[in-house]
Amino acid sequence: MKNSRRDFLQKLAVSAATIPFLPYDAFANAELRPVPSAQGPTLRVALMGLGYYASLVADAIQSCKRVKITGLISGTPAKLADWGSKYSVPEASRYNYENFDRIKDNPDIDAVYVITPNALHHDQVIRVANAGKHAICEKPMALNAAEGQEMIDACANAGVKLLVGYRMHFEPKTVEVVRMRAAGEFGAIKFFQGQCGFRIGDPTQWRLDKDLAGGGAMMDIGIYAINGSRYMIGEEPVWVTAQETKTDQVKFKEGVDETILFQLGFPSGAVASCLSTYNMNYLDRFFLVGEKGFAEMQPSTGYGPIKGRTNKGELTQPHVTHQTLQMDAMAGIIFNDDTPPVPVDGQEALKDLKIIDAIYRACATGTKQELNLG
Ligand code: NAD
Repeated sequence: MKNSRRDFLQKLAVSAATIPFLPYDAFANAELRPVPSAQGPTLRVALMGLGYYASLVADAIQSCKRVKITGLISGTPAKLADWGSKYSVPEASRYNYENFDRIKDNPDIDAVYVITPNALHHDQVIRVANAGKHAICEKPMALNAAEGQEMIDACANAGVKLLVGYRMHFEPKTVEVVRMRAAGEFGAIKFFQGQCGFRIGDPTQWRLDKDLAGGGAMMDIGIYAINGSRYMIGEEPVWVTAQETKTDQVKFKEGVDETILFQLGFPSGAVASCLSTYNMNYLDRFFLVGEKGFAEMQPSTGYGPIKGRTNKGELTQPHVTHQTLQMDAMAGIIFNDDTPPVPVDGQEALKDLKIIDAIYRACATGTKQELNLG
């Protein structure tokens, strides 16, 4: 029995070449049971916002075991026609932003995946909930915690689930580091470093428009360091300090953050030091250190393959398209009440939004902010 995990991993390495969907029980222990149900109803999902990321999600769904695209929502008729024929979505299941509430009457759609600019998530998710469909929403779930709470309440009142596209929560190397940390293999955790950023291009894009993005790099990429510090350390932070710098006032207008350094303190005494930026490339690194060991990942949150090692050696879990893993796992969460390796529900996203709110307050006031994430 002792060798069963090793045997399983060896079999997994062979089967991974042919099976796109990895059973997480390869990494299971008593505390973390990230075992998505391979059996169960197919999640029939409508994609809302047919842009860059939706196209990655749509491709990834083609390799899913239990997810199918059965609806499309876009403001561009030509996209609805193209995507409709590419993914065999009938005209009756294609909607625009004015009429998508009619999804309520469509028995072929279980959930809507909202993949639009950040500022639209709040109203769109609430409309999805009011149409009686489960909502999957891209990160950041909303522009602030108050909006996020309203989305959670709307989904709870409608009796639908609210999930957020935290794809790293299913990524095998990440899951393994989380498992090792939860099993105490690194000892008491002392420090996490998360560096997340890239140099953003086109100055006219919505990501640099405060009204649509809700901020700047922090909303888009810094959130990976916030969320990563929580799942890597395995605690909720109790304070945050933050400092903002801006080198280009034209590209990064008022309310659009270019670079923010922030520090988080955790109840155990562990601390995190993070960087969020739209002005530097080659920044996609996580480092976690405990009394007995460490994990380092680079790249740590890109589309992969994720690379990393711990004090015990290289992380060798095979790469699988993140969104394929995420969507199959979400089918299990929605229909089988599966427990994911790290939560992906509205409450999880709300915690990140509360931290973002506090980071912006810390930058504005220059003072340490207490956090009460419950
Ligand atoms: P994008 O600009 O490529 O796509 C956005 C889509 O929304 C477009 O099709 C656009 O036409 C549509 N749209 C609808 N109303 C709009 C409006 N009023 N203004 C502008 N566009 C409008 O953006 P994207 O990169 O696909 O990002 C969409 C969402 O997905 C964002 O919330 C982003 O943070 C998230 N995202 C997540 C990941 C991830 O790895 N989880 C990666 C990229 C993007």
